[in-house]
Amino acid sequence: MTDSIFTKIIKREIPANIIYEDEYVVAFEDVNPVAPIHILIVPQKQIPTINDANLEDTALLGHVILTAAKLANQRGVSENGYRLVINCNKDAGQTVFHIHCHLLGGRIFNWPPG
Ligand code: AMP
Repeated sequence: MTDSIFTKIIKREIPANIIYEDEYVVAFEDVNPVAPIHILIVPQKQIPTINDANLEDTALLGHVILTAAKLANQRGVSENGYRLVINCNKDAGQTVFHIHCHLLGGRIFNWPPG
């Protein structure tokens, strides 16, 4: 598998504003934010879509979500709320084929999303 743009960020081959990293995940600011807070939480392991994840990735995916919640708390939006999004394939508009969770906050989000 060739390296995704996010793997290149993880390897520091291309720049990004990395705000958190541990053994399993990296989080950085989205280059094209759609909310005052727009952070991507990305597994270090390159998995193209959520369809490609399997049972052995269960803890990893849980860690992605818990990391998002921790970062939301650090950014002060836990109480007011925020949205977590994982897009899958074309109907959802996925453009980077390396699983990532969008943490969106700092404004009100409509539901249904439209
Ligand atoms: P998705 O449409 O769910 O695949 O989301 C991909 C996201 O990655 C978009 O919100 C892009 O703005 C973001 N993105 C693409 N390239 C970069 C980059 N080099 N650094 C930070 N964010 C990026």
